[in-house]
Parts: sequence; structure tokens; C-alpha cells
Amino acid sequence: MKKALTHLKTYLEGDLFFDHLHKTLYATDASVYRKIPLAVALPKTEKGIVQLIQFAANNQTSLIPRTAGTSLAGQCVGEGIVVDVSRYFTEIIALDTKNKRVTVQPGVIRDELNSYLKPHGLFFGPNTSTSNRCMIGGMVGNNSSGTTSIQYGVTRDKVVALKTILSDGQTVVFSEISSEGFAAKSKLDSLEGEVYKRIYDELSSEEARLEIKREFPKPEIHRRNTGYAIDALIDTEVFTNSEEKINLCKLLCGSEGTLAFTTEITLQLDPLPPEHTTLVISHYKTIDNCLNDVTVAMEHNLYACEMMDDVILGCTKKNKKYDSYRFFVKDNPKALLLLELKANSEEEVRSQTDVLLGALNDSRLSYATTVLTGPEMEIAMELRKAGLGLLGNMVGDRKAVACIEDTAVTLADLPQYISDFTALMKSYDQDAVYYAHAGAGELHLRPILNLKTKEGVEYFRKITTAVAQLTKKYKGSFSGEHGDGIVRAEFMEMQIGSKNFDLLKRIKKTFDPANIFNPGKITNAWPMDESLRNETEVATPLVETLMDFKDSQGILRLAEKCNGSGDCRKTANSAGVMCPSYHITKNEKDTTRGRANMLREVLTKSESVNKFNSVELKEVLDLCLSCKACASECPSNVDVTAIKTEFL
Ligand SMILES: Cc1cc2nc3c(=O)[nH]c(=O)nc-3n(C[C@H](O)[C@H](O)[C@H](O)COP(=O)(O)OP(=O)(O)OC[C@H]3O[C@@H](n4cnc5c(N)ncnc54)[C@H](O)[C@@H]3O)c2cc1C
Ligand code: SF4
Repeated sequence: MKKALTHLKTYLEGDLFFDHLHKTLYATDASVYRKIPLAVALPKTEKGIVQLIQFAANNQTSLIPRTAGTSLAGQCVGEGIVVDVSRYFTEIIALDTKNKRVTVQPGVIRDELNSYLKPHGLFFGPNTSTSNRCMIGGMVGNNSSGTTSIQYGVTRDKVVALKTILSDGQTVVFSEISSEGFAAKSKLDSLEGEVYKRIYDELSSEEARLEIKREFPKPEIHRRNTGYAIDALIDTEVFTNSEEKINLCKLLCGSEGTLAFTTEITLQLDPLPPEHTTLVISHYKTIDNCLNDVTVAMEHNLYACEMMDDVILGCTKKNKKYDSYRFFVKDNPKALLLLELKANSEEEVRSQTDVLLGALNDSRLSYATTVLTGPEMEIAMELRKAGLGLLGNMVGDRKAVACIEDTAVTLADLPQYISDFTALMKSYDQDAVYYAHAGAGELHLRPILNLKTKEGVEYFRKITTAVAQLTKKYKGSFSGEHGDGIVRAEFMEMQIGSKNFDLLKRIKKTFDPANIFNPGKITNAWPMDESLRNETEVATPLVETLMDFKDSQGILRLAEKCNGSGDCRKTANSAGVMCPSYHITKNEKDTTRGRANMLREVLTKSESVNKFNSVELKEVLDLCLSCKACASECPSNVDVTAIKTEFL
């Protein structure tokens, strides 16, 4: 294979790496998984992607599409060639202000797109906590959502057209199409034709459509990432009397790079939200009270309805940057709701705020409320956004593990679901973390586990299985926004039933008969408890250091605090300083994450007596300016200056 890769390097329109350093940097994303890929490619052109597809087909390997690599479920981890389009596919191609549409390449960062759109009075709604570094290609791949979905919907609602390269190397554009157009496409003598024909053959029977309705999550749950979204295709003109036209982008959105490679995305935009804003923060003594107030609050045309519990708030206390952001917290709440209101005038927003405060007062569930505006409000929302990353700040081997962290149920089901969930977690001797998008029926629930132990890994599987069953009981979505990846793919059949799951497998087979695109995700799942970042039942090596790393329980555990959230991939246009070397080079190896990943690899895998004696470690630390920005800006406080000083 090395010979074949060496040859590929001579003609590929793009960069290709198959050295240990690059393979290590791309072996992980923001999930608990790690697989060393065959190679890493950064194509410069669409032809480069076609060349990679042909190479994969001829050499029985696979391609793992990737942008910022902030996926939490293992979507970007695989054994084939990781194809990173974050470097060269970064163009905003066209803006159509009349129809409020923009066409971009997949490597455009969400917040940077919105900065570009702002002077035109437009914006792209879905707003993940990672919005300052995650890219539109990845948002489409995962059907991302975030704080704004209660007003603006999810990425799937916004994708108008996708230009893709299919597994046979052909370029195909998917967009809305009439039933006549659909019928004509089905007759094409090409892979595109086969795709349309397959969809028609599978969904034209009423029985098949009823089976989907019976087994898929309740339609009123607007955050749904359970397998391929065939449920979003069935009530269209092609299959029913509905006037809604079919658009296969809905199927591709959330398909996690398993069906086709996207090269251009056309998005529907919204006018900028009203300018005048307040944030009401209500405080609760119990999780139950907090959840019961969600329904009360959601009567009030909120733009965000987010929750934080005491575990997340506790993490902020220990963080150098975020400790000072807690100024609005009164006493010691068990949970907070952050409720955002917007209006076109100061007067209007004040009046809406008064009405909301009145309703919260009447419900008698909260013990205090704070109203924030302007920069104070921004700070509170930033603290909320930092939440998931802050969980990585837990010192030691017990971590808040992403596996059941984004289940979604209807608002009506939420309090009972969470009560069942809490009882279930108690039966596993677990205190869970409750936080995030309460208004959308989705909380980021995480068990605290030590995945370095066999017992921890067993709990990982048991808890994930039990919560999958519980979600099914409520006809919820096992993933509301983060996607299935490796961690949830195994449970897909349980979630949607065998008949529907077989249908998904046939769709995958039609799009990608040789399984080139991102194997092991959604269908043909890899086991969720293998290929973990940390080896199980292997003692954490004691690494002697000259400097004192006691606060993190040693230098290795400092590196292990990096959970891959990729905050260090934000660009110079974002607030803060981290990470100046990446700002210039845009190379993963020059991020704080890349440095932590390489250090972890060297300290756990190197056979050398002096593990620091590593050319690769030198290479990743070389451009670090020792500016110390990451020590405070990284939510996990991964302090690369200290690491570099020890290395030197
Ligand atoms: C701390 C933290 C907070 C988060 N908060 C949120 C949140 O609030 N809401 C939310 O929805 N998500 C959240 N996420 C998850 C993640 O950030 C989002 O899914 C994000 O949109 C992924 O973007 P990315 O650029 O990192 O994509 P990647 O992780 O690189 O890729 C995502 C998927 O898209 C596929 N893909 C990428 N490019 C292409 C392409 N060109 N063609 C085909 N497939 C492609 C990949 O194969 C992969 O399956 C969070 C993650 C972290 C670590
Ligand atoms: S100390 Fe190094 S790794 Fe950390 S932000 Fe500065 S340059 Fe980046």
C-alpha cells in the first residue's frame, strides 16, 4: 500500500501525508475513539477528490470526509484516508440576496459565513457551540443544530442544493425536484439514476411509509438524527397528494459522509434576528423544577432556551477564564435556564421580558431570576457555549463521556423522560450532567466514567444500551444533533426497527456499493466499545518531569484533558488569542489539540527510554509561541507553554 500511496502523491491534486505524525493528528476527533488512518489527504480541487475516490476503489480502502473534526460520536475516525477539506475548500462562491441564498464550499466556517452575510442583513441560523470553528460541510454531514433551532430550525431545513461527487466519481447536484423530474431522473442510465430509482422503489409502497412513521421518532421532535432521514422524504409530492416537492438533500444531510462527497452547498438564509435582546436567567433548586418551567417559558417566543446544571457550573469555577463569567449566578442553584428574548425595539423587548418574568413568578418553580442585556448577556451565553468543552476540564481519569449526550424527546415528555433517566442513572450509581437545549427537548446528558477500566467500558455499553431503550420508549431521537457516528450506530436497528434499518442498508449499498465513504457509521456499525482513545486496563505510565504537573495529576493527564473540541481551531477573526500559530499556518499540527494529541501518543506508545526524545513532538511544538493563551482559553486548560517548557 505504501507503494500505491507514494504513486498517488505524484499525481494527486492536493497534499498527501502518510507519516506517523499526520496519521496521529487525524486518528481522533472530539469523540472517545481513535483509529490510525492509512493516510491524510488535503485535496485542492474537485478533481483531487475524484482521484481519491478512484484510488480508494482500486485499492479497497475508504475515505473519511472531514472539516474541523469536532464530531462527538466518532464520525471522523476511520482506517482509510482522512480527506480534510478545511484547508482548500473555503470559498464563499455566490450570494443571492434576492432569494436569500448563499453557495459555499464545505470548508467555510459557520461564524465567518455569518460575518460575511451580516452587511447584507442575512444569516445562517443553525448555531452550534462550536460555531467559531466548525464548517458548513461538517454541519451538513451531521445535520447540526444548536441554540437557535427553536426559532430557525436545523441544518437540514436550510440546505437547498448540494453538489456532490458520487462513489463512481460522477458529479451530481441534488436539489428540490418535481415528481416528473424525479421520474425522469429514475430512468437515467447512471448511478444518479439508480439512486432515484432506489428511493422510489423503497418508498412508493404505503406499507413501507407506514412502517417508517411507526418506528421513526415522533415528527414534532424537530432535532432528529436517527439514521438516514427517510422520514423527511415520505410526505412529498412523489409519494402522496402533498404539494411539498422532494429534495434528496434532506437524505444527504445527516448522512455523515457515508453516501457522497459534498463539494458545494447552497443554503437558505434568514433575515438577521431583531436587534434588541434580553436574557432572563432563572435559578432552580431541583432539576425537576427547572424542567417543568421549560414548558412555561416556551410559551414566550424565545430565541434560546438553554439549561446549565450544577456540574457544568462547577466546572466553570475551576476554569481560569470562565470563573469570572459566573457573576450572574445567585447562591448555589441546582440548575439554571437561560431564556433569550428578541424584539425590534427596546420597549417591546422590555415588555416581553416583564411578561416572561410574570409567568416564571406565577409558576413558583424558580427561586431567583436575573435579567441581562448587552455585553453581560454575551458573557453568559459564551459561558453556556463553553459548557461541553468545560466538561473536559475534569482532572483525572473519570470523564463526562459522550455517548447518550443528545437524546431528544417532545417537550411534553421531557420531565418524565428525565425522571426515568435519573432513576436509570442511579441504578448505575451515576450522577449525570444535565445541560443545553431544554427548549428543544434535548439535554446533553453525560455519565461520568473511567474508560481506562474494564468496568468503565462495560458501563459505557450498558448505559448507552439502556438509554437507547428508554429513548425508544418515548419515541424520541437517540441523537438530536451530534449524529450517530460509531457510538450510536450499533443501536440504529433498535431505534428504527429491522425493516427500516434494512432499507437504510439498501440505500447505502446503492449510493456506495464498494463501501468507500466513511464505513462503520450509521449502517454496518463498528462496535461502540472498541478502538477507544485510551487502552483499557493498561496502567497509565508514570512520566517523570522537571516541572510540577500535580494540578493535572501529571503531564500525560494534562494532555488527556484535551477532548478534541477544537476550540484552538478558531481563526484570528474570533475573540481571543489562541492559537496564533494555527492562525497563520491553518495546519492541524499547529493547534493546541494537535500538540496534545501528539504528546499523548508519544507518552503512551513510544518505546524510548526518554519519551520526550521525539522528532514528531519537536515538530508540533516548534511553532508554539509559548504565549500561554491556551492555558486560559482552552476550555480544558491544556497549557502547551508548560508542555513545551518541559520538552525543552
Ligand atoms: C464542545 C462541542 C460542542 C458542540 N456543540 C454542538 C451543538 O451545540 N450543536 C450541534 O449540532 N453540534 C455540536 N457539536 C458537534 C459538532 O461540533 C458539529 O456536528 C459540527 O457541525 C461539526 O462540524 P465540523 O466542521 O467539525 O465537522 P466534522 O466533524 O469534520 O465532520 C462532520 C461530519 O460531516 C462529514 N463531512 C465533512 N465534510 C464533508 C464533505 N465535504 N462531504 C461529505 N461529508 C462531509 C464528516 O465525514 C463527518 O461525518 C459540538 C461539538 C463539540 C466538541
Ligand atoms: S501557548 Fe502555544 S499552543 Fe498555546 S495558544 Fe500559544 S501558541 Fe498556541
